[in-house]
Amino acid sequence: MKDDILELLSMKDIIDKYGFKIKNKMICCPFHNDKTASMRIYDKTFYCFGCNKTGDLIQFTEYLFNLSFLDAMKKINIDFNLGLDLDRRIDMNKIRKIQEEKYKKQIEEHTKNIAFQKKCDILHAYQKYISYFSKRINKDNWENYTYIMSFLLEKAEKLENEIDNMY
Ligand SMILES: [Zn+2]
Repeated sequence: MKDDILELLSMKDIIDKYGFKIKNKMICCPFHNDKTASMRIYDKTFYCFGCNKTGDLIQFTEYLFNLSFLDAMKKINIDFNLGLDLDRRIDMNKIRKIQEEKYKKQIEEHTKNIAFQKKCDILHAYQKYISYFSKRINKDNWENYTYIMSFLLEKAEKLENEIDNMY
């Protein structure tokens, strides 16, 4: 939930919505008597050079409206019409499954990269042979090379297509 909110919104959305004026990435700190705009606004976080208050955009809302962290998320959910289901219980099995899925994807990606590299290496070797034979072919001996050249060209083309279709 927290991650969803942090992904969907930025600090700027929050301060715009809750009526702060930002200038040069600074606003007047609502957490101490601030006349000089000493709070720096980052993408998802804030830091006050006056009172050292810091946190992410959910914590900003939490402190600003004196809420619990969960209630701050609920307020943001409503105010920004995010439609997140904040009452949903955290399902550890589901989280584990998502993580497993993520690892599986990473392994697949890794395997694919290795396969890709292998195919590229083989293609490179074919191309070297093709260029090697090309230099030796002339009008008198070409018949001796027809078989090997068509074999190599066919293999190389097939590999090229395979490589093209991998990503
Ligand atoms: Zn402050």
